[in-house]
Amino acid sequence: MSQVRHLVQLQLLDTQLDQAKKRLAEIEVALNDHSAVRQAAVRSEKAAKALLEARLALKRAEQNVEVQQEKIDRNQKALYGGTKKSPKELEDLQMEAGALRRYLSVLEDRQLDAMLAFEEAEAASTTADQRLSEVKEKVAAENVDLGAEQRALLAQAADLEARREKIVSPIAPDMLAKYGQLRRTRMGVAVSEVKDGGCSVCGANLSAAQAQAARSPSKIVYCEVCGRILYA
Ligand SMILES: [Zn+2]
Repeated sequence: MSQVRHLVQLQLLDTQLDQAKKRLAEIEVALNDHSAVRQAAVRSEKAAKALLEARLALKRAEQNVEVQQEKIDRNQKALYGGTKKSPKELEDLQMEAGALRRYLSVLEDRQLDAMLAFEEAEAASTTADQRLSEVKEKVAAENVDLGAEQRALLAQAADLEARREKIVSPIAPDMLAKYGQLRRTRMGVAVSEVKDGGCSVCGANLSAAQAQAARSPSKIVYCEVCGRILYA
């Protein structure tokens, strides 16, 4: 087999190897990316904190109502408790009873608001917790799939590397060096097929003599525009 044919085979294999390595790098990044779980965990913690605050606010609102209720009870006992009081004292207690009831109504409204806020915070916290569980499950399932793909690709890459050794052995060292240099500087593609009288990679048209030479098994022909090794 000609040197060019060996290089064509090598190029096909190296392209597969490049793809496998690129995908392996992507998988590595994906497996190390815990941002989705972290974000969901932060939301869940925030919601839990808000729920705790809402629970405390509700507790305070309930206590305020209780305290106010006790004040009213004391006022009512004083009013109707039987101990003799002057008309002025009774009038003051009546006034106080009115004021205490009006403020109780304000406190009860606040308690209701606190109850609604608490229920809202509770629902938000439940939702955030559910979301976190879902994200964790989803990521775990994805990681199982990625792990399987990673193992398959590693096996494939090892197989390609082994085959590469065999393909490389009959290639002359200077050709191999030239091939390697072209791969490094030409986006991984050192060898280009002649199609419709042109270089299939860069699209340059070839002269009839060049196209003819590219068909020769004994000659190495380079594309005049992109410098890649041509084969037909
Ligand atoms: Zn070219």
